[in-house]
Amino acid sequence: MTHIFDAAVLGAGLAGSSLAKALADKGWETLLLDRQTFPRHKVCGEFLSPESQSTLHSLGISESVAGLRPSGIERIRLIFENGAEMEVPLPCKALGLSRYSLDSALHLAAQQAGAKLQTGTTVTAVHPTDRGYNIEMVQNGEMSCVEARTVIAAWGASKRPGLPGYRKPDSGKRSYIGVKSHFRGILLEKVIELYFFRGGYLGLCPIEGGLVNASALLQRDALANAGKTIVAIMHAAAGRNPRLREKLAHAEPVLGTQAAVAPVYLNRKPLAWEQLPLLGDAAVMIPPLCGDGMSMALRSAALCAPLADGYLRGNLSIAEWQHIYTGAIKREFKGPLRWGSFLQWLFGVPTVSGWLPYVARMAPGLADGLVRATRLKPFE
Ligand SMILES: Cc1cc2nc3c(=O)[nH]c(=O)nc-3n(C[C@H](O)[C@H](O)[C@H](O)COP(=O)(O)OP(=O)(O)OC[C@H]3O[C@@H](n4cnc5c(N)ncnc54)[C@H](O)[C@@H]3O)c2cc1C
Repeated sequence: MTHIFDAAVLGAGLAGSSLAKALADKGWETLLLDRQTFPRHKVCGEFLSPESQSTLHSLGISESVAGLRPSGIERIRLIFENGAEMEVPLPCKALGLSRYSLDSALHLAAQQAGAKLQTGTTVTAVHPTDRGYNIEMVQNGEMSCVEARTVIAAWGASKRPGLPGYRKPDSGKRSYIGVKSHFRGILLEKVIELYFFRGGYLGLCPIEGGLVNASALLQRDALANAGKTIVAIMHAAAGRNPRLREKLAHAEPVLGTQAAVAPVYLNRKPLAWEQLPLLGDAAVMIPPLCGDGMSMALRSAALCAPLADGYLRGNLSIAEWQHIYTGAIKREFKGPLRWGSFLQWLFGVPTVSGWLPYVARMAPGLADGLVRATRLKPFE
């Protein structure tokens, strides 16, 4: 009889690697697959929200993360096209940490727990068998198969058509492009700055090593063709917000840290299960503006791990696992998603820079409440 893994986790981003670590910790023979090779730079604001701390702790990875010397962040500052700004304190300290370091640290933690990591391997199909699942994959142009008793999909938002969880984008729905680059020479205290302009926004987040990560989400039709390189696109965007232009004027991009992703679709409906359990962005995507996608990816892994363990032990049926996991995803993410979509809409309203900073000054609890409404509750 051929070898069969206990669990295969498809996608080694935050959700996948933390789940693989949790399953390996329980003693399950776990295979973690990813189409990319690591370390790699990924489009992300690199702002690890305060809510992620309790989940990192429950997954046993807070020490690995602390060892990377992330920067501490205490406030969010919003800066509009007309120069108006508003500042909101965070309920507790957030972290700024590159995905280059974070994802690799999680891989190491998963491997040290006993998981097998296989990168540069694209999963092309998953078929149920009488023992579990057959996973078809391609590595260096060669096709191969592995078998696992259970399979969990953590392949992010950009899945291949035909794979479980793929959703064809609605025609006419607005699509975005995401870009990122690290910079030297930008002074930022313990604050994340979000600059708004027509066609999108750009966030500056202090990360490890005194660098600043710049990431932008831009309407494809408005700015994506504004430059030939990622840094040129960012400078074109900065031309629409004078304070951002000033901030980037003497900044030096760090070579090799640029990345782009397109198309990005917002406001997808959550889907926790389709043939397989779906984790992280594969299940639910909060507008990146909220800076909570990584926290949700980690939380989905923390919610799924004990259920997968129960299933592998024979204490739960697959139907029970599906029912409990789907309910937990709905319960935990419904509020943040609703308020996140509202904020995404609000910051797209052309007149917002005229009145929001004024309203926030008059009713400081309102801005605070809005930010809190988009956050997850601490993990218990
Ligand atoms: C512009 C922008 C800014 C953002 N800023 C923030 C922020 O500041 N803070 C925050 O918390 N979140 C932010 N996010 C969201 C955050 O990046 C995501 O929510 C998070 O990366 C989701 O993690 P994940 O593990 O679900 O998916 P991913 O990290 O995307 O990992 C999925 C993995 O699956 C692999 N994969 C895909 N298909 C296959 C396949 N067929 N076979 C094998 N492997 C496959 C991919 O290579 C990838 O490594 C931002 C997003 C964008 C676009």
